[in-house]
Amino acid sequence: MKFNDFPKKVKIVEVGPRDGLQNEKTLVSAEIKVEFIKNLAAAGLQTIEATSFVRADRIPQMADASEVYRGVAGLNIDLPCLVPNLKGMEHALAAKVKSIAVFTATSNEFNKRNINATVEESLKRIGPVLEEAKKNNLKIRAYISTVFGCPYEGITSVEGLLKVMDFFHQHHVDEISLGDTTGVAIPIQVDEVLTNVNSRFGLEKVALHFHDTRSMALSNVLVGLEHGVAIYDSSAGGLGGCPYAKGATGNLATEDLVYLLRSHGIETGVDLNKLIEASSSVFKALNKSSESKINRVFKGK
Ligand code: MG
Repeated sequence: MKFNDFPKKVKIVEVGPRDGLQNEKTLVSAEIKVEFIKNLAAAGLQTIEATSFVRADRIPQMADASEVYRGVAGLNIDLPCLVPNLKGMEHALAAKVKSIAVFTATSNEFNKRNINATVEESLKRIGPVLEEAKKNNLKIRAYISTVFGCPYEGITSVEGLLKVMDFFHQHHVDEISLGDTTGVAIPIQVDEVLTNVNSRFGLEKVALHFHDTRSMALSNVLVGLEHGVAIYDSSAGGLGGCPYAKGATGNLATEDLVYLLRSHGIETGVDLNKLIEASSSVFKALNKSSESKINRVFKGK
């Protein structure tokens, strides 16, 4: 591994307040969420996925989207909000959101169960959302789930991924996050996927979203760094859990990611000590403890 060729600077996309809290059963108040996002920003995170404009009856964890966004909109950072369809887009625009995220998967079965649409149908649904976002000069991030495997279909094809990526490239999205939804990715596979993606599209727009379900997340990040990928998603304290394996870890913990990066001299802009404190009140509200190993080491001092 050529450590000297690693990117000098990495952008971390903190997904705890949305991806993390959406996957926690316990509801957290808008007040705590706002404080959480402010703490994360104070720790130096410049991109924080704030909330999701989804149907409150489907996802009660995000019912307070407008309130949360209003509470943090004054922060001078990028605050992408998840938008599933035109209705969500309407609410996001009403809240004066400047940056959105859309999502699909490479697997038909996963998409059918998650959003009741095949991959193709989901892209048809996303198209008008992207048009609307462009019209309003919003920044666009696209999430692609099940890139490295699907809980229902097993291994997913790289060709399928490239097709979905092609759609997003044609729509000129700003960033494409490749998600290891169930934490099955291993380094050799990440290497293969990135080699394929690189030869087709390059990797400038690519973000990697690893889950630590099988303790492979940081090893996979190293492969991403070796390929020059400079954007990684993670969640403070590993918030979110894994909906496909009860009691298992989901999102890679931001603290662990920051520790790896700073240990290799890669700039993140994040103050690790402040970051470790940033999620305290959230974990208290959830009545659980942080999944981050680094958090335990530092707190145990
Ligand atoms: Mg995730």
